[in-house]
Amino acid sequence: MSQVLRESISIAGLPTEIHDMIFKPERIISVKIPVRMDNGKIAVFEGYRVQHNSVLGPYKGGIRFHPEVTLETDMALAFGMTLKNSLANIPYGGGKGAVKVDPFKLSERELEELSRGYVRALFPFIGPDKDIPAPDVNTNPRIMAWMVDEYSKLAGKNVPASFTGKPPELGGNPARIYSTGFGVAVIAKAAAEVFAGGIEGKRVAVHGFGNVGSYAALWLSKFGAKVVAISNIFGSVYDPDGIDAELAAENPEVLKDVRAYPKGQKFNDTDVPLYVDADILVPASLENVITPEKVPRIKAKLIVEGANGPTVPEAERQLYMRKDFYAVVPDILANSGGVIGSYLEWVQNLNWYKMSEEEVRSKLESIMLNNYKIVMDAWKRFREKNPEKMVTMRDASFALAVERIYEAMKLRGLI
Ligand code: NAD
Repeated sequence: MSQVLRESISIAGLPTEIHDMIFKPERIISVKIPVRMDNGKIAVFEGYRVQHNSVLGPYKGGIRFHPEVTLETDMALAFGMTLKNSLANIPYGGGKGAVKVDPFKLSERELEELSRGYVRALFPFIGPDKDIPAPDVNTNPRIMAWMVDEYSKLAGKNVPASFTGKPPELGGNPARIYSTGFGVAVIAKAAAEVFAGGIEGKRVAVHGFGNVGSYAALWLSKFGAKVVAISNIFGSVYDPDGIDAELAAENPEVLKDVRAYPKGQKFNDTDVPLYVDADILVPASLENVITPEKVPRIKAKLIVEGANGPTVPEAERQLYMRKDFYAVVPDILANSGGVIGSYLEWVQNLNWYKMSEEEVRSKLESIMLNNYKIVMDAWKRFREKNPEKMVTMRDASFALAVERIYEAMKLRGLI
């Protein structure tokens, strides 16, 4: 991450001395969370909140419950949120929280106690205009509901804007379940318009038909694209005539195992979408899926990253070396629909207003389209500024995010 920042500072032509000012977290909070377990004994859990940077607004980022979290990983994730929120062009800094726990080993009551205990420990440091947490790995709307309830009790008033990712009944975003996948589809459509003459009839392959992948496929098909391949952990389906994305995305059996889809060719190989004849590839499963060894077999000219970090840097470099390749639209831009959806949830809570699903979707779409245009302009600008370098769309996105943080620090008189 430090190297990414150094490179971004260089591409944006900013002073190198700002590296540490941006890289180091503003505040690290480490807490103990005692929980009375069902067996009557007290267990003490370790929790963190890294408040990385607040020059653009209050800290914002998820809370992860995982047995292997460390302060170091939390710090790296918090820095990632600072960049992601800056690029998303929403008034947030970056933060991330974690509790070292295997939540699957807890009873529902123990999980609730732990969630409420985390909020009690952090209460002085978080809140709607200070730090707004959200779900991340192994945390969900149910846990956010407990957390917002605990925060409100301590504050002595109802504070729905203290957490995002709540159930819609408690002021949550009614489009949250598909915000990230929808955003990926909006960005893919915008990129297809710029590079390939539009989305209509374009063949799309989706690697990882989970939350992000299935909704990206669904919305892309609504936008006129033809989904030709999908995969998940069990295998793949390929149908050059088009997969019915609605049928697939709304069928629990297909979501469990894509091979349950009634038509098309079925494979046990999970990588089929990477190699089929497609115009757009959406990797939406895990990190490091597109490796240099796989690049020669990839036919798509446009890659839109739904997952975090699916393209290995060397593979990305090789893709750009191909004469006919358009771009890898990076995760930091393409999958920002979730955090922008969180921002819209916070805005409606702050205003005691309830947006309809259509209103959220339309605002989300317009923010994402605007961000896409701004990144394209920045990409052109940074390429012109660095003629000796191969500046990718990812490099431009990071450099733009860093440039915004730098400008805010300068305006505040911090540098
Ligand atoms: P998910 O668990 O709902 O879906 C992941 C899918 O990938 C599953 O269908 C799984 O079977 C499939 N998969 C796993 N390994 C595979 C393999 N080797 N080959 C093919 N398919 C495989 O998770 P998700 O929430 O959709 O997240 C997917 C990615 O998107 C992750 O990288 C996540 O960090 C990122 N992301 C998610 C969100 C969000 O709002 N959900 C937001 C930003 C980024």
